[in-house]
Amino acid sequence: MGGEGDDYPAAYCRQVCHLLRCVRKVYDRRMAAETLLLVGDELGRYGFPTGHPLGSDRQGAFLASAVAKGLDKRVAIGAPRLATREELQRFHSREHLHWVEIRSRLGDGYLDYGDTPAFPGCYEIAATVAGTALEGLERVMAGDAVRTFQPIGGLHHARRSRAAGFCVFNDLGVVIDSLRKRFGVARIGYVDIDVHHGDGIYYPYETDPDLIVVDIHEDGNFIFPGTGHAHESGANEAEGTKLNLPLPPGAGDREFFAAWERGLAHLHHLKPQFLILQAGADGLAGDPLADLRYTPAVHARVTRDLRKLADEQCEGRLMAFGGGGYELSNLAAAWTAVLGELT
Ligand SMILES: [Zn+2]
Repeated sequence: MGGEGDDYPAAYCRQVCHLLRCVRKVYDRRMAAETLLLVGDELGRYGFPTGHPLGSDRQGAFLASAVAKGLDKRVAIGAPRLATREELQRFHSREHLHWVEIRSRLGDGYLDYGDTPAFPGCYEIAATVAGTALEGLERVMAGDAVRTFQPIGGLHHARRSRAAGFCVFNDLGVVIDSLRKRFGVARIGYVDIDVHHGDGIYYPYETDPDLIVVDIHEDGNFIFPGTGHAHESGANEAEGTKLNLPLPPGAGDREFFAAWERGLAHLHHLKPQFLILQAGADGLAGDPLADLRYTPAVHARVTRDLRKLADEQCEGRLMAFGGGGYELSNLAAAWTAVLGELT
């Protein structure tokens, strides 16, 4: 006798193991649904003709790195889509859309003063960056996802009425104005760690007290677009809602983290309801267009802190975008750090 007694621990163990596997599966599914990664061929095509620093090889470089780390298994995948005219016009002027349409049909010349070349189909490809951001926003607002990452996006130099600095349409502005006009979410925290100042967000919302900005970048005295000085802190009733923190050429993680302490305190103080991160990778050491010396620890830390803040104050809602970055191994490392923290 005693068989029952001998088998009991083994059977109990099997049951517990089975239960743990079930819990793990449910947990994995929940985690996968929480973070939406927005990628696809139509989105990856956003890039300019051969020889331009922003090529169409950036999404592929990021994805190879993300897949190697197994991050693709921890996310849901969202597909790109085109933005309609009505959606683009939530932020952009009718004249700007018309201008891009003409240049897209002609397929040559520049969309701005000489940084952003036109090419055949550039209207549709740029409208896809904005449309994909809206796809992410709609999924978050519907509760299908809590947070998103869109590597090809974060085109923070385009203004309401013009292209600039490799940015044709400003997907971030389209998201912000859609949050207001379509979803009634007014108070938004915008964090920009791209090496260049996010002038295409700062100036359109300079007098808007509900757009809370933290923008850490290389000093505009040394780099495009020449703006984002510390005294630019919002205007009129928005005075004090924007924090521009320029860093001198050569600054690295230590200088960044000192600035970020201030940025995070600013966000905690002003209590946004929704967070957007422009996680440009061009502040990393070795970028061909800039002079800062960050490591991907910057991207990991900011994402981690924002995720925590979003969970505490914004029902988790956080949308992250890749932004700039012109050295492929750098952008792969920085964006993988972002996605790793989001999942
Ligand atoms: Zn940049």
